[in-house]
Amino acid sequence: MDYLQPQNLKSALQLMQRWKGRAVLVAGGTNVVPDLRVTPVQPKALLDISCLKSLSCIKEDGKKIRIGALTTISELVSSEVIRKGASVLFHACQQLGNPLVRNRATIAGNLADASPATDTAVPLLVLNAQVIALRNGGKPRSIPIDQFFLGPNQTLLKKDEIIKEVIIPKSNPQAKTAYFKLGLRNSMAISVVSLALLMEMEKGFCKKARIAYGAVAPSPIRVYRIEEMLENQKLTEDLLEACCEAVGKEVHPISDIRASKEYRIEMASVLLRRGLRELILKPGDAETSSA
Ligand SMILES: Cc1cc2nc3c(=O)[nH]c(=O)nc-3n(C[C@H](O)[C@H](O)[C@H](O)COP(=O)(O)OP(=O)(O)OC[C@H]3O[C@@H](n4cnc5c(N)ncnc54)[C@H](O)[C@@H]3O)c2cc1C
Repeated sequence: MDYLQPQNLKSALQLMQRWKGRAVLVAGGTNVVPDLRVTPVQPKALLDISCLKSLSCIKEDGKKIRIGALTTISELVSSEVIRKGASVLFHACQQLGNPLVRNRATIAGNLADASPATDTAVPLLVLNAQVIALRNGGKPRSIPIDQFFLGPNQTLLKKDEIIKEVIIPKSNPQAKTAYFKLGLRNSMAISVVSLALLMEMEKGFCKKARIAYGAVAPSPIRVYRIEEMLENQKLTEDLLEACCEAVGKEVHPISDIRASKEYRIEMASVLLRRGLRELILKPGDAETSSA
């Protein structure tokens, strides 16, 4: 197996083109390296982009926040820009892995791995993020996050593309957000069910509702039908209960070693009830919680 370490983005893109599909990109390596031990088909080369410092940044750009592909989860957790401008992502990142993992794990690696339980995708869905992909000689391609995932470990990325950055439109400062991660332990756990909420409310009416789940479908999902049930409606206990009941039809989990399909469906409803109560029915500056 070859080991390639390009010194700049241009040569990384050229190498991706040359080795199309035969080289595996390595960012933090927290997925790639353990996977190498178990995969029956080894890649021909590892293309280590971890030294491309230009891809490691968090910048405010007018009404957007730009996060470089190699920004680590630890850097996201220690960023004031993320804490203030994308607090739902901040809280999700706090719950990813452990400090050692967070120090190496990157945002692009988390998205490109495309686990149904990936912790950054769920908040990025409610933030309407865009994934920016580059290929040698091409223009940057902007992929809305709700179209990025095709299934477990599958994305819209082409074999010669590299994620350059993730762009988040800044949300209304009045919006309330929450992230819940239900795992088998309180830390170092892959989600059994995760939920991100972003709500804008005015005088008891829901102006905007964005709701996303992890680990209840082949990819992280938005539940648009539940959002439609809430938007422009007066928020009552009856409506809340109707949403929690209806969400069972919107999620499509599997049974695996962590939980049964039935438990996940039930927990999708339980977490939604908890999240909506916290954000809607209790006044005050609700922020985020974890299950
Ligand atoms: C002990 C442990 C605990 C973990 N806990 C969690 C957890 O709680 N929640 C969670 O979501 N994940 C968890 N993970 C998984 C992992 O840490 C994350 O998915 C991490 O963000 C991956 O980032 P990375 O930089 O290490 O990716 P890598 O392993 O380097 O790469 C992952 C995939 O992304 C591709 N890739 C990387 N960078 C790019 C790029 N710029 N463009 C295109 N493709 C790219 C690689 O080719 C590879 O296919 C855990 C892992 C371990 C080992």
